[in-house]
Amino acid sequence: MTRRAVPGPVALVGAGPGDPGLLTERGARLLRHADVVLYDRLIDPRLLTRCVKTSARTIYVGKEKPGGASRDREQRRILDLMARHARAGRRVVRLKGGDPYIFGRGGEEALHLSSLGIPFEVVPGVTAALGAAATAGIPFTHRGVAREVTFATAHAATGGAAPSWKALGQLRGTIVFYMGTYSLPRVAKTLIASGRRPGTPVAVVERATTPRQRTVTGTLADIAGVASRAGVRPPSLVIVGDAVALRPPLDWFSARPLFGRNVLVCRPRDSAAATIDQLEVAGAAVTSLPCLDFRPPASWRAVDRALRRATSRDWVVITSPAGARFLAERLDALGLDARALGTARLAAVGAATADVLRSSIPSIRPDLVPASENAAGLVAALGPRRIRGRSFLLLRADRARTELPDRLRALGATVADVPLYRSIVPRPDRGVVADFAAGAFDAVLLTSGESARTLRRWLGRSPFPERTRLVTIGPVTSEAVRALGWRVDRESPAPPELAATVIEALAHP
Ligand code: SAH
Repeated sequence: MTRRAVPGPVALVGAGPGDPGLLTERGARLLRHADVVLYDRLIDPRLLTRCVKTSARTIYVGKEKPGGASRDREQRRILDLMARHARAGRRVVRLKGGDPYIFGRGGEEALHLSSLGIPFEVVPGVTAALGAAATAGIPFTHRGVAREVTFATAHAATGGAAPSWKALGQLRGTIVFYMGTYSLPRVAKTLIASGRRPGTPVAVVERATTPRQRTVTGTLADIAGVASRAGVRPPSLVIVGDAVALRPPLDWFSARPLFGRNVLVCRPRDSAAATIDQLEVAGAAVTSLPCLDFRPPASWRAVDRALRRATSRDWVVITSPAGARFLAERLDALGLDARALGTARLAAVGAATADVLRSSIPSIRPDLVPASENAAGLVAALGPRRIRGRSFLLLRADRARTELPDRLRALGATVADVPLYRSIVPRPDRGVVADFAAGAFDAVLLTSGESARTLRRWLGRSPFPERTRLVTIGPVTSEAVRALGWRVDRESPAPPELAATVIEALAHP
């Protein structure tokens, strides 16, 4: 008997208002398992790169222009795609901006699936209004100020009855208008005509929850002019009501030290995540331009031999997060686990390296994580007594500097220095390089001499942009940067201090 493909449940997932961190855990899990992802225009591409497996199909189904017959045609295409892939037995996620059931036609999509007998589930998302409330600092309800909140749209093309302006004008609480950017003059005028006080505070919040969030405020009487002079564009929300006036002391979001700043991070992918996170928490818009990438060695022979004999060593040393990842992957491929290291001690250079080791090799714990992330730091942390006469296995990049093995040998150790991975120069994102050359970034972060030299090559004839502050980690990188004729504005002592150093570099140029 041939087995018929069973339609898998389709998940309608709310992606949240913009910041990828506001996706729910349930949504992230469904994305990780999805075979097909249908996504909208306002979805942050990082959700797709971070959460979706590489073998999955991601299909853009965003609608460019609101309203009109073409929109309905596009909506029918979405319904067909969902049904077709589900019936083929694929796990389908329909990823929608904000919440699926707030002005997103999610209801239509669920009704369609239901009518076809295709199982589905709905995962709520943080709707744009709630994102904007939190990040623009507008508590929608507040004792003595607003006792109700209404979500509305002024948009005519969303189907159904026109907004009941008379009733809206009678409300005294907070009203949030979706899709209101272009109809703002009419919204304001109509609310006043239906009874709302012209002096009622109004905020327009553009790109809420993202590093490019912008808020303009006024009153019903003047907001149309204010927003038009400021050039407010979609996506934005119009928030009407006295709660808007609570905002100044609650505006934590744009008060963060790096808010509105553009920072370029040239760290390799393996070690960039923690740095990017730190900078984003401080409010920066971070762009990543890895100047270095890693590949497995041409042959695993030397590594495999070294791993099989690792237990005869006194120390095994891993010097980078990429090294930790490759070690974990290779042990796994060989069917080995932490016991392969036997009684050898494990040193991890850098907290990020130690983190990757702990999270990727079950029950492994580095014996030594020196505070200073370089050869000198490791040697100092070990101390001469633990070096002389001892046997070290260094698992590192193919083109790693010789300082560490040189120093260990000079102190009387035997050292096997085995290339665990190759470092390569990736293809640059030309658009980002051009933006950098044009001075689009307030600061750039360089964490190795090699990255600096690569960036210099990518820049070609363009000089280092005058307005961009240059931040490095550690004296070795700084020296390499200066050798290129570039000025180091600030040097961070270690990765945990990076964001603080960038903040300082921008506060006191
Ligand atoms: N389902 C979505 C809304 C889709 S309608 C949700 O729950 O948020 C699209 C409208 O949502 C836009 O016109 C805008 O008014 C609003 N919107 C979406 N993302 C936004 C953001 N980051 N900032 C401000 N408004 C946003």
